[in-house]
Amino acid sequence: MTFQEILAASGFAQGELEGGAMDVHTPVDGSRIASLQTHSESQVHAVIARGREAFDAWRKVPAPRRGELVRLLGAELRAEKENLGRLVTLECGKIYQEGLGEVQEMIDICDFAVGLSRQLYGLTIASERPGHAMRETWHPMGVCGVISAFNFPVAVWSWNTAIALVCGNPVIWKPSEKTPLTALSCKKIFDRAVARFGDAPDDLLQVLVGGREVGDTLVSSPDVAIVSATGSTRMGRAVGAKVAERFGRCILELGGNNAMIVTGSADLEMAVRAIVFSAVGTAGQRCTSLRRLIVHEGVYDALVPRLKEAYSGLPIGNPLEEGVLVGPLIDADARAGMQTALDQAQAAGGTVHGGAAALTDSYPDAAYVAPAIVEMPGQSDIVKHETFAPILYVMKYSELEEAIGIQNAVPQGLSSCIFTTDVREAEEFLSDVGSDCGIANVNIGPSGAEIGGAFGGEKETGGGRESGSDAWKGYMRRQTNTVNYSRELPLAQGIKFDI
Ligand code: NAD
Repeated sequence: MTFQEILAASGFAQGELEGGAMDVHTPVDGSRIASLQTHSESQVHAVIARGREAFDAWRKVPAPRRGELVRLLGAELRAEKENLGRLVTLECGKIYQEGLGEVQEMIDICDFAVGLSRQLYGLTIASERPGHAMRETWHPMGVCGVISAFNFPVAVWSWNTAIALVCGNPVIWKPSEKTPLTALSCKKIFDRAVARFGDAPDDLLQVLVGGREVGDTLVSSPDVAIVSATGSTRMGRAVGAKVAERFGRCILELGGNNAMIVTGSADLEMAVRAIVFSAVGTAGQRCTSLRRLIVHEGVYDALVPRLKEAYSGLPIGNPLEEGVLVGPLIDADARAGMQTALDQAQAAGGTVHGGAAALTDSYPDAAYVAPAIVEMPGQSDIVKHETFAPILYVMKYSELEEAIGIQNAVPQGLSSCIFTTDVREAEEFLSDVGSDCGIANVNIGPSGAEIGGAFGGEKETGGGRESGSDAWKGYMRRQTNTVNYSRELPLAQGIKFDI
């Protein structure tokens, strides 16, 4: 399919994506595929005001009925899976299989949220006073602002939106300025679900087009009760401070610097497959991409040559084509950032394998690269930094405690894993003195989480949790209710206060 056909299949009419000042380029060949109008500051304020009105109506709708809208959204996404998956590939450059996987994740979270809409449970709590009942109830919060990154242009929105909607909150979405088309396509899909639903209030979902200044107006507004922001740590620092200043609620999903420990007892065949998928998948542009490999000295010489061999045969190319496993980086800046990191690693004593620019003749305006393996003498500064590109730093260790120390000695705390067949090693890694990350896996790479678990990480990753488990509590306000059904008025703590 041509790029135009992909856009048309997603319902964009001729001319709909023209005339604005914000150019959108596809990383597939670097060409311009749209020029969109951005929202002005006053337009953002008007959008927020409409969101507030939507909240007033939506919170009155019973949660299971709100779940019905999310069920319909899931049905529309099922019907649109191939078209949206292809658009994801066109706009952010991940291979089509991963584009489809991203849409499947959206469908999965809708299914989860539909069930959740009947399970927004609170606790009942024993009261110390006779004739009293205590309970905890959960209520809608208000407008939920969602800021998303380019690398998961639609899944992150759906994690937030499916949950926010069943919790009674409308959503205002500011997608990455690099991937606004997938957001506009999701809006069309959402509008179809709303039409089938019948009586939803207007403006349950609004999309803002623009860069960080548009995001800044959104997060600064006291009328945006929740800000869920996914992106770099730099962005999180700015957004977190803004939201904290006005005592808003913030869910931060920021950068990762994810590691795998390969112990002496590991199944190396399995480890190689997991390493390659998690280090080069999405061209190393996942927040959970494997960036650091910490290998026991006893298996280092058996593992690293196998990895180099696997890397040498990786099909790099147009992500829309079948059989390609490594697509392009998002843009030339990302490729320059990768080269700078490789230079710094080399200067710190690293040995670089791969990492060169690729396909420069066929795609001179795109940013393809060969994924790199860098053997490092130790964890130097550049290894502690998240470079959003397919660079895998490899280091040796001798004792497990030392390996866990290396794994934890970075500012980020998103995802981690160990490959071992020794239950003692596995349990130590998962224990209080093990991995300090939000995600810790055994015999599975650090990327590719399922929606059932809460997703997020510690330290500079921001501490937020999204998606499954009880992450929904981040989208509601908790209220403690005490009801006196007696004819007395006993005070807590036995206080006497007779009048
Ligand atoms: P980015 O920080 O450049 O941009 C992310 C979003 O934030 C964009 O929509 C951008 O417009 C907006 N933004 C930037 N500065 C802002 C500000 N001051 N105020 C308001 N909005 C602002 O990130 P990116 O390059 O699009 O994505 C890559 C980064 O995202 C990586 O660090 C990656 O690890 C991280 N990421 C994290 C997760 C996670 O769940 N932890 C998931 C995906 C990506």
